[in-house]
Amino acid sequence: MVDSVLKQLTLEEKCALLSGVDFWHTTPIKRAGVPSVMMADGPHGLRKETKKSDIANVMQKSQPATCFPPAVTLASTWDRDLVADVAKAIADEAIDQELVTVLGPGINIKRNPLCGRNFEYYSEDPYLAGELCASYINGMQSKGVGTSLKHFAVNSQEYRRLTISSEVDGRAIREIYLAAFETAVKKSQPYTIMCSYNRINGLHASENKWLLTDVLRKEWGFKGIVVSDWGAVNDRVLGVQAGLDLEMPTSSGVHDKMIFDAVQSGKISEEDVDVCAKRMLEYIFKCYNNKKASEGKKCDYSKSHKLARKAAASGAVLLKNEKALPIKESDDIAVIGWLAKTMRYQGGGSSNINPMNLVNFTDHLDAEKIPYAYTPGYGKGDGRNKKLLEEAVALAKEKKTVLLFVGLTDEYESEGYDRTHLELPQGHNDLVEAITAVNDNVIIVLSCGSPVQLPWLDKVKAVLNIYLGGEAAGEATADLLFGKVNPSGKLAETFPYALEDNPSYKYFQMGPRTLEHRESIYVGYRYFDKAGKEVRFPFGYGLSYTEFEYGNLSVEKTDKGVKVTFEVKNTGGRDGAEIAQVYVKDIESTIFREEKALKGFAKVFLKKGESKTVEILLDDRAFSFYNVQKNDWTIEKGEFEILVGANSRDIKLSAKIELDGETGGIADYKATAPVYYNLKETDDFSAAEFEAVLDRPLPENRPYAKGELDFNSTIEDAEVTWVGRLVSRATKYFSTKVVAKDAPESVKEMTRRSSVVMPLRSLYAMTNGFVPRETAEGVIMMFNGKVLRGAGRAVKYLIKNRKAIKKSDIYTE
Ligand code: BGC
Repeated sequence: MVDSVLKQLTLEEKCALLSGVDFWHTTPIKRAGVPSVMMADGPHGLRKETKKSDIANVMQKSQPATCFPPAVTLASTWDRDLVADVAKAIADEAIDQELVTVLGPGINIKRNPLCGRNFEYYSEDPYLAGELCASYINGMQSKGVGTSLKHFAVNSQEYRRLTISSEVDGRAIREIYLAAFETAVKKSQPYTIMCSYNRINGLHASENKWLLTDVLRKEWGFKGIVVSDWGAVNDRVLGVQAGLDLEMPTSSGVHDKMIFDAVQSGKISEEDVDVCAKRMLEYIFKCYNNKKASEGKKCDYSKSHKLARKAAASGAVLLKNEKALPIKESDDIAVIGWLAKTMRYQGGGSSNINPMNLVNFTDHLDAEKIPYAYTPGYGKGDGRNKKLLEEAVALAKEKKTVLLFVGLTDEYESEGYDRTHLELPQGHNDLVEAITAVNDNVIIVLSCGSPVQLPWLDKVKAVLNIYLGGEAAGEATADLLFGKVNPSGKLAETFPYALEDNPSYKYFQMGPRTLEHRESIYVGYRYFDKAGKEVRFPFGYGLSYTEFEYGNLSVEKTDKGVKVTFEVKNTGGRDGAEIAQVYVKDIESTIFREEKALKGFAKVFLKKGESKTVEILLDDRAFSFYNVQKNDWTIEKGEFEILVGANSRDIKLSAKIELDGETGGIADYKATAPVYYNLKETDDFSAAEFEAVLDRPLPENRPYAKGELDFNSTIEDAEVTWVGRLVSRATKYFSTKVVAKDAPESVKEMTRRSSVVMPLRSLYAMTNGFVPRETAEGVIMMFNGKVLRGAGRAVKYLIKNRKAIKKSDIYTE
């Protein structure tokens, strides 16, 4: 069928298929019976825009949908089945809202806690992220709704995300940044993969053949389509050759025409176009048929809400508990903190969902008639407010127990920009200090999408980190505080003591051109363990209201791999769930390696007094490193240790095993990059040692100069000229005006902060045909000093464009 349709299409139509017809739809070719299908963000619910998306209506309020907890919270459940259930429920809603693909999950590695989008990602560990995302994808696709695994790849910061080049060595890219994608692709075959905005070692992800074809398709066997992140296309023709099937959103025909011309001039062949067009047809018809098959199915949003509540409770992490929790509903409770009444339940940006049924903590107490006294304690912004603080102190003095809600508010974490520090709003910290001075039974309920500092930790009795709990956050919080649910979440990331403790501290948000991943494989606990650095809360950490004991470890070589078996027993007074973790350590190696790495885990549900045997199979990959010299995975012959623990710093059982493997042909960096072997707390990764590991000199990272500005330069780069400075100011001012009026504050902030670091090509590629490419060229000419000629060109084509025929006028269903 697909082949016969492909044969009917003209070259022009095939080129048209390779980009969207607008912001969310594929291009229909009515003449040949090719329908248009719609995708929407995700990933923790649906963000289906209902009005036409255009330049004056960016990030409009979407159709209501269940807002599940975002990835940070889902990841902390460590529960493959639950993640799959959440994805299935989102799929039911997608069917109800006539969407064929949900744009997620986001699987990028949490390289640094400051990344503004960490709340949308799973973990600092690729094994955990890969396993959970595979479950998400399998869950959603079992219902016939596609996913888009994103953002492929090495996109772990927001600053200059559309232009910066992630400089990363051959091992780190495979072992850390691609590994989770690899697992998810191999285990779940997502319908689509979204390539990231950034460059990788100099080349844009959207035109990177090595990434999109050699690794993704040839090595991993990916069968779906590659879609660009919205506006990630740099050179569309190179993209076709590299394996980028679909450009989104529409560049309103501009890039389609470039592909057409490239075929006409012989730069690429029509067969190159056919490869992508065929994959597009397969994708469109598959989605369309799935949609037809599930037509009329209704979904139960109240069921989704209950699942959202379960997921939120399961992903919350109990960080401290000095016998203060759980509390009774009849306790004399003060609820302090505006975040109890207006909860922070999701992050900002493209994943921001218009919730179907938001229940705040105080809403829930009211509905259940649970007695409490409430006061806000702090104001908006940095929260400082003397009057509110005094009122809160007065209330805390009178009450037996204080539930104190603090955390990062909306404007702290969003897509489009990164945080600059790890602190909570000052007013929240001041409040905790003041309340703990008058009440010694303070329980903190913490909301955040990424690690924060807790300077007052010693002064409080308990800390329940609910992260971002989705629309049922209020109910889930109550379930945990009152002991209806026993906390069972564990951190999927390390909480460091200080920002400077992070290995990428000096090498984050770099720019203007490059972002050096100098720490190589030492991301998260891999670094903290190797350097022997103390952390506030280790990777994998989380408390329960009950206790668990581990025993009877056995490690055995089998045909299928190394079989690890052990027992976990619930020895405390309540039913509960334990997340048992298996780490592998290479005892002696020629190449530098992490202290240990997570290679297996199981969430075990145990009744009071019950014990279960856990079995985990470790395949070859669990013991391998990526051998850049051989372009393959290698096990070095020798002894390995299997470590079974309750978290990365609480190893309960261990055993050694001797494995056969390679003895030669392994790179040794001891002479050229010794720091990677004997990492100490105070060590830095010098350029020279990183270059040895990178096996090439680092590219220059100097600012752009006048005359050098092009489609890939940003308005911030153009600030070297007076026109650039003027435009930059105007952009910051006007950018918030184009955002839909009903968009949340975080979205307005995102638009303001990211507008000046968008490449100039976005002017025409992201405005749905409003700005023509020639106008963007004119602006670049102005920045490069040809002010009058550039302005003339910009204005002339803008006027001409008003009468131009749009792609959406030609291709309508
Ligand atoms: C984000 C993607 C998102 C897309 C569509 C981009 O800016 O990076 O994650 O799916 O927009 O909204």
